[in-house]
Amino acid sequence: METLTNCPVCEKSDFQEFLTVEDYTVSHQQFQIQQCNSCRFLFTNPRPAEEEIGTYYESQDYISHHDDAKDLMSRVYNSVRDYTIQQKIKLINTHSFQKGTLLDVGCGTGSFAQAIQGNGWAVNGTEPDSGARGVAQGRLGNQVYENIYSTELAGQQFDTITMWHVLEHVHRLNETLEWLYAHLKPNGLLVIAVPNPESHDAAKYGTFWAAYDVPRHLYHFTKSTMKLLLGKHRFEVKKTLPMWFDSFYVSMLSTKYKDQKIDMIDSGTTGLLSNWKGRVAGQKEINTSSIIYIIKKK
Ligand SMILES: [Zn+2]
Repeated sequence: METLTNCPVCEKSDFQEFLTVEDYTVSHQQFQIQQCNSCRFLFTNPRPAEEEIGTYYESQDYISHHDDAKDLMSRVYNSVRDYTIQQKIKLINTHSFQKGTLLDVGCGTGSFAQAIQGNGWAVNGTEPDSGARGVAQGRLGNQVYENIYSTELAGQQFDTITMWHVLEHVHRLNETLEWLYAHLKPNGLLVIAVPNPESHDAAKYGTFWAAYDVPRHLYHFTKSTMKLLLGKHRFEVKKTLPMWFDSFYVSMLSTKYKDQKIDMIDSGTTGLLSNWKGRVAGQKEINTSSIIYIIKKK
């Protein structure tokens, strides 16, 4: 384990306890989420060091003990995946300067990367999990590397870089943002999607909120701390967009952590309410369970 003594966003050292959360899927250990008293950034602290976090991604326990739930969640997830992928492609084509090269950081098995490649983009990916990376390589034609520091990516600059629920997992946060700045073209588009701890479902489920997902989620970004972090690295947020489905998916998982079984009625109504409260309604910014940040260089 390692303990951060400086806030990753503002570098100050004055923190307070925010919430204690259990790792519901793998270790069942308790972790602290701390809040910086200066910039309000939320982060898991202490946290497993980079070289020991791997064991917290091995979910054998989760699979063997919760087969029914796993199957239900997988079915729900797969049934909307194709739709959400098409929505992602649409938003990238809307906000990008041109259709060119794209890097999907943390591409998993490459579903999104393959789909946007079929849409006319030249796609590269990174994925630390060797199993997932192998699948992605088969789909994309080998342009998938272990991480952003792979030598093949060294001299490249991309028109678009995407990070779908990835930045909250990255140990070297500031270093990663510097890398993104160096590898994005001057008029390039950066898309970052992360959970939103200020959403209605986060408030409702509290310590059971599935998107805290400690210790795999090292940071819990709000709109305000995301903007501070990006500003520090010469990026600016152009727009925030909702992820409607995440409100339901995260609510379902949260009811399972709370009551050991999925409550469809509770999670359905919470998801609806979360999307309703988080929608654009004469406000400048959305506040759904997860948020997509549309980002450009300053
Ligand atoms: Zn801070």
